[in-house]
Amino acid sequence: MPIQVLSDELSSRIAAGEVIERPASVVKELVENSLDAGSTRIDVQVVGGGANSITVVDNGEGIPADELALAFERFATSKIDESSDLIAIGTLGFRGEALPSIASVARVEVTSRHAGAEAGVSYLVDFGKPGRLEAAGAPQGTRISVSDLFKNVPARLKFLGSAGRELSRIQRLLASLALVHPDVAFSLTADGRDRLRTVGSAGSGSIVDAVSGIYGQKIADEMLLLEADDSAAFSVDGLVSSPSLNRSNRTYMTLSVNGRWIQSRRLTYAIEQAYYGFLPDRRFPIAVARIRTPLDDVDANVHPAKAEVRFLREDLVYSVVQRAVRGVLSAHAPVHTLGSGRAGGSLGLFRTPIGPGGFSRPGERQADSGDRTMPAAGGGYSKWPGPIAPAETEIAPSDDLASAQAPLAEPGVPGATGPETVSRSTATPRETLPVLRVIGQSHQTYIVAEGPDGLYLIDQHAAHERVTYERVKARFDDNAIESQPLLEPATVDLAPGMMTTVHEHMEELNRVGWGVEEFGGNSLIVRSVPASLASRASGDGAGRVFVAVLDELSEGGSGESWRERMLASIACHSSVRAGQTLSPDECKNLIRQLEKTEHPNTCPHGRPTIVQLSVGDLEREFKRR
Ligand code: ADP
Ligand code: MG
Repeated sequence: MPIQVLSDELSSRIAAGEVIERPASVVKELVENSLDAGSTRIDVQVVGGGANSITVVDNGEGIPADELALAFERFATSKIDESSDLIAIGTLGFRGEALPSIASVARVEVTSRHAGAEAGVSYLVDFGKPGRLEAAGAPQGTRISVSDLFKNVPARLKFLGSAGRELSRIQRLLASLALVHPDVAFSLTADGRDRLRTVGSAGSGSIVDAVSGIYGQKIADEMLLLEADDSAAFSVDGLVSSPSLNRSNRTYMTLSVNGRWIQSRRLTYAIEQAYYGFLPDRRFPIAVARIRTPLDDVDANVHPAKAEVRFLREDLVYSVVQRAVRGVLSAHAPVHTLGSGRAGGSLGLFRTPIGPGGFSRPGERQADSGDRTMPAAGGGYSKWPGPIAPAETEIAPSDDLASAQAPLAEPGVPGATGPETVSRSTATPRETLPVLRVIGQSHQTYIVAEGPDGLYLIDQHAAHERVTYERVKARFDDNAIESQPLLEPATVDLAPGMMTTVHEHMEELNRVGWGVEEFGGNSLIVRSVPASLASRASGDGAGRVFVAVLDELSEGGSGESWRERMLASIACHSSVRAGQTLSPDECKNLIRQLEKTEHPNTCPHGRPTIVQLSVGDLEREFKRR
């Protein structure tokens, strides 16, 4: 075939593929247009997962009658002009591509009444063929209906998922947009059924209301408020879940930059990192983080659907996010109460089968695959069985909404629950332990103590790990960790690739007290160990601990996270284990030391150090009230 320029009709269908991949892309473009138009209410109706029809109705400023046809021309936009430099863009749209793209692969009907206009006007574009403008009665705002999407692009139609799947993408998308724009009231109706609704409240409680509309009031109640520093050029506000509320996947983290919902693996990771030490491995928080930066620090013009952006100073944004989340967690982490990880808050303790005879012995427990504690040295060592299992079912926003009616926010009472909820969560006192009186040790694993509001069980290993971790970390920060030479240096064979890890982090390894030397090939000699380890690891033991530390670290991460993991690992290996008898004085000492730590309620890996059985719980269990 000779080279030829493709017809407008064909080339616009090709270009449309970039922007409009599936029904959810249509919803995204239309809703973003509604947001750019200053709408305070956006209603979306979908039939057949969006393939049959998608209708978006808003109450924004509308489109002037004499511009309506122009809006469907390629590169026609009211948001930038020749003087714009494509950098500091404050609107969600700017390319003028969405309406013509959609109209080239669907039948599009628009009715709009511009603010101040007497009447509305409607316009139809049928798979690229423009129709006529007609006067129409309409309230202020815009209504766009898109039907028979991709009927003229069979290839694309073939790649669509089932109606249910496409609908769940739309729900996820709208949930994210609603979380990022809590001041706008969103609704989604699919095949006549209500799927999602937010009240769209303004003011300080608005984001709590949005979370309540999307995830339900119970979750909203357990969120911690991230407050923006308005004086800073870079800041973040939103909500993050307190550590006891977590999920097994990352879909509950929602990010935005300057009002634009974005996806960013790096910033998601920043939030995850902030939870380091607060959450067990492979558990993820619920979060809404709304980042604000100077407009010219963000380039939104790098992704066809504008879902990803490029930051001029990404490292700075990363640390702003991480620090804000970390700060609020440090200030709020409360004592874990027994049963708080379970649905319905029941005690559970007495309902869980705990082995023959009614009691388990150390070593009888099933080891959790996520356990990172040191392997048992001499048997009889029980592992933490994982956090008190969150028994609630994992529901991603989409599934939640697809399978059941979304928890509807109370209409007509905007803000009614917001401020109260906020003050409740922000009123949580700084993480402190109550004064505890030690009663004894149980199963050579738990210290039993009594406090002002009930009984407390302290996991001796986790507690000691926390104490050691903070001590080791403080010394590390002061560059004051002692190293102890081994009487007999240990030779260690490393797994392939590990030597690189050692080289990369040699300086930090030295700084915590490891003295190692390359021995040729994949072998190393360990000559000295961190002093805190000296009593627990000698000779070959030291080699094994070194390998265990490296194994844990090889999972990746660098910088601060690597350092924290390394210190946590050293703390773990330096700490008293489960299965070890402690004298009453040792128990008391440990509790006193734990009280003095900065984060007494979790071990550095995020497992609880202490669980509480409150007086109220006891009374309920014994039917005293
Ligand atoms: P862009 O959003 O990049 O400008 P679009 O093709 O999405 O391009 O929209 C073209 C123009 O149509 C917009 O610039 C805006 O002026 C107008 N428009 C589209 N949707 C709406 C709406 N819901 N309310 C008001 N104006 C709209
Ligand atoms: Mg647009």
